[in-house]
Amino acid sequence: MLFKNKKFERSVILKKDVLDSILSFCQMKHPNEGILILKGKSKNGEIKIDGLVIPPFSETGPTFAGFPYSFLPFDMSYVGIVHSHPSGSAEPSVTDLHNFFGLVSMIVKSPYEDDSIFAWDSNANSIPLSIE
Ligand SMILES: [Zn+2]
Repeated sequence: MLFKNKKFERSVILKKDVLDSILSFCQMKHPNEGILILKGKSKNGEIKIDGLVIPPFSETGPTFAGFPYSFLPFDMSYVGIVHSHPSGSAEPSVTDLHNFFGLVSMIVKSPYEDDSIFAWDSNANSIPLSIE
């Protein structure tokens, strides 16, 4: 077959230093949720995350973390958000899915270790994640 209809698999690549920053930010916020904006690039379904932004006017508590998205400048490098679940669940809540922003939603569960982080799409399907 000459032309193969290639379907791009989604995947997330996270830089190790960004992962470390996320984990220490979430540890600092515990027992409240922490929330950060993910910066990066998306190409052919591959989302490369290489930076973080602390959202303006963020409000967090033990079971919620949010910020008014309308305050965000339009920026193509904002690929999603990451927030923590001090409860220890890695699954996105209904509220999380309603507040989906960008291409990927990452959740870090307590105790915020290297393998406590998960990536989800807007339909609550998990996206394979690799650390580089
Ligand atoms: Zn959540």
